[in-house]
Amino acid sequence: MLEIRDLQVHYNGITALRGVSLDVNQGEVVALIGPNGAGKSTLVNAVSGIVSPSAGTIAFEGKPLHSSRAWTISGMGVLQVPEGRQVFPQLTVTENLQLGATALRGRKAGIPLDEVHALFPILRERAEQLAGSLSGGQQQMLAIGRALMGSPRLLLLDEPSLGLAPVIIAQVFAALRTLKERGMTILLIEQNATLALDLSDRAYILEQGRVVMSGASKALAADADVVSHYLGVT
Ligand code: ATP
Repeated sequence: MLEIRDLQVHYNGITALRGVSLDVNQGEVVALIGPNGAGKSTLVNAVSGIVSPSAGTIAFEGKPLHSSRAWTISGMGVLQVPEGRQVFPQLTVTENLQLGATALRGRKAGIPLDEVHALFPILRERAEQLAGSLSGGQQQMLAIGRALMGSPRLLLLDEPSLGLAPVIIAQVFAALRTLKERGMTILLIEQNATLALDLSDRAYILEQGRVVMSGASKALAADADVVSHYLGVT
């Protein structure tokens, strides 16, 4: 579904990606793990058209994305939940969700508001509350719910656990598991490798702009090197 080949991204002399190749197949959850500054956000931002690659290709269902603009890419159903949530603070929860539906642009609605509410009941309870006054965890749920309203064909998640308490992370990941069970295709960036490998089918480990390891998540989680480097166990 998503094919990335030899992708390079530079920012004013800084090389963030040095030839990354990666695939996401339909219905898969693929995790991208690795330390701070490895280039994970850059990769996802290149897919969604926020940053322009200097070399390499990105194709979504066979169509090239690497020279398309963010607006066109989101209209194809490639929808990103950005790092740090970024909800519209002065709009209500429901208004934020309704804005997510603007990404549909002619594609038929797949995930109605009721389903988003079923996944995250707090978004129904707080429907009229301004998004800026929600807790961090509630804002993360809202950011995911907003992307779902656009009926994603590929959902890009950038660090959904960042800064959240363990009990909230568990709720967010339970919702992601439900989405996975319904067949949603997800590319997930996650610093918490344990969580990421537990949810995903396959994973890529990025370091200094390169893929240093990839494979089935179960196999990576059992690999002694991965365990000592990324899972916080020595
Ligand atoms: P983190 O988990 O900290 O977000 P990451 O793996 O997502 O890390 P990126 O944010 O993609 O990494 O950053 C990769 C490299 O590119 C880093 O060296 C970073 O400083 C640099 N970088 C990212 N965005 C920019 C930018 N807009 N301008 C200049 N350098 C940037």
